Amino acid sequence: MKFSELGLNETLIEAIGYMNYEEATPIQSQAIPHILEGHDLIGCAQTGTGKTAAFTLPVLHRMAQSPVKGVKTLVLCPTRELATQIDQLVQGLSYFTNLSCYPVYGGGTGPEWEKERRALSDGADMIIATPGRLIAHLNNGYVNFKNVQHLILDEADRMLDIGFHDDILRIIKELPQKRQSLLFSATMAPKIRSLAKKILEEPKEINLAMSKPAEGVTQKVYLTFEEQKTPLVRHILKQHEDFKSIIVFCSTKKKVDQLARNLKNKGHIVAGISSDYEQAEREQVLLNFKSRKTRIVVATDVLSRGIDIKDIDLVINYDVPGDAEDYVHRVGRTARAASKGLAITFVSDKEMGKFARIEELIERQLDKLAPPEELGKAPEWRTHGKSKPKGKHNYRKGKKPNRFKGKKQSNRPRGSAPNQPSSPKG
Ligand code: AMP
Repeated sequence: MKFSELGLNETLIEAIGYMNYEEATPIQSQAIPHILEGHDLIGCAQTGTGKTAAFTLPVLHRMAQSPVKGVKTLVLCPTRELATQIDQLVQGLSYFTNLSCYPVYGGGTGPEWEKERRALSDGADMIIATPGRLIAHLNNGYVNFKNVQHLILDEADRMLDIGFHDDILRIIKELPQKRQSLLFSATMAPKIRSLAKKILEEPKEINLAMSKPAEGVTQKVYLTFEEQKTPLVRHILKQHEDFKSIIVFCSTKKKVDQLARNLKNKGHIVAGISSDYEQAEREQVLLNFKSRKTRIVVATDVLSRGIDIKDIDLVINYDVPGDAEDYVHRVGRTARAASKGLAITFVSDKEMGKFARIEELIERQLDKLAPPEELGKAPEWRTHGKSKPKGKHNYRKGKKPNRFKGKKQSNRPRGSAPNQPSSPKG
């Protein structure tokens, strides 16, 4: 569907043109009309489907028509990185409007707190906040949410996983009862349904067949013993010397540090990132990675959800993610929109049960590869006491993932142009 058929105002259509979006993605063509009509909405969609623009565009459209001053839209999201990313997209899409947007996520310096305070009290039109930081401001009494018309919860499942349930309800108490509320989540687990019941009124529902990695991703699985993992990373890096952007996800901060150090010692251009790193450092690592100065980032799952870095060639799951949904999010770092990607997961003897649950979730069983012989004998695939022969197996073909079919993606770095300073009004 063309954006021009959706009834969005001209300034937005112009910005969409600059972003090189040719057609609306399925979540966009389904969600935008409901949001423009003022309905509450619950959207089951993962990162990579275009869900950020799906809520941003109609909300900008409605805000541009509103004579009301002050904060009109509040977006809550789980992490600083996601807040920054939504902010960048909003800046791009709102470039030709007079609307302002400000991210409130903490971690910054004293002057940053002051800028957030001004945005929250004098009123940037749109605030994008992580719950913890917003609560800290709310406790100081100057936040003015009396004109909020739109509330958006992005990655609601992730916010609940982090433990933001009570913070979210506390924040919502500050908002007018009459408002439009939109909730997006990668899953529709019962806890999300129950949150939605508390927040949304007669919501329209959109469900984009969930929990399947994007179609463009090639998924590979290696069965390995723990001590084979680092040499196997190096082997894979050697095999793919042409790959320019690679993320390796590890389960612990310690492993991140160890692997990053090991790869650096072998001459790779690599940086580590985890919650141990200062916010400024994390931002610098991401910046260098996006601009291709750093080829490899080794990360804990801080990065695994929501972060939109385009054109990642390869994701390696050094460890099987604890939460099966995280697998989909991690693999989703590659093959964004129309591009193709490769995702490789290492499954140790102790992680097979966990990986079997992922296969259940993605409704697909993947070939299990053995590391090259020089790395030694690999463990055998074994779940629920059953053992399958080692090496490359072809299990039954799973259902084809049914979700966002590749759309043309902007070549422009996201949100970079059109561009607009994100300072609050006043
Ligand atoms: P999201 O799911 O919101 O994280 O978006 C994933 C990526 O798709 C982002 O880089 C967006 O800029 C891009 N995108 C969003 N909508 C479209 C569209 N209609 N056509 C092409 N790319 C899009």
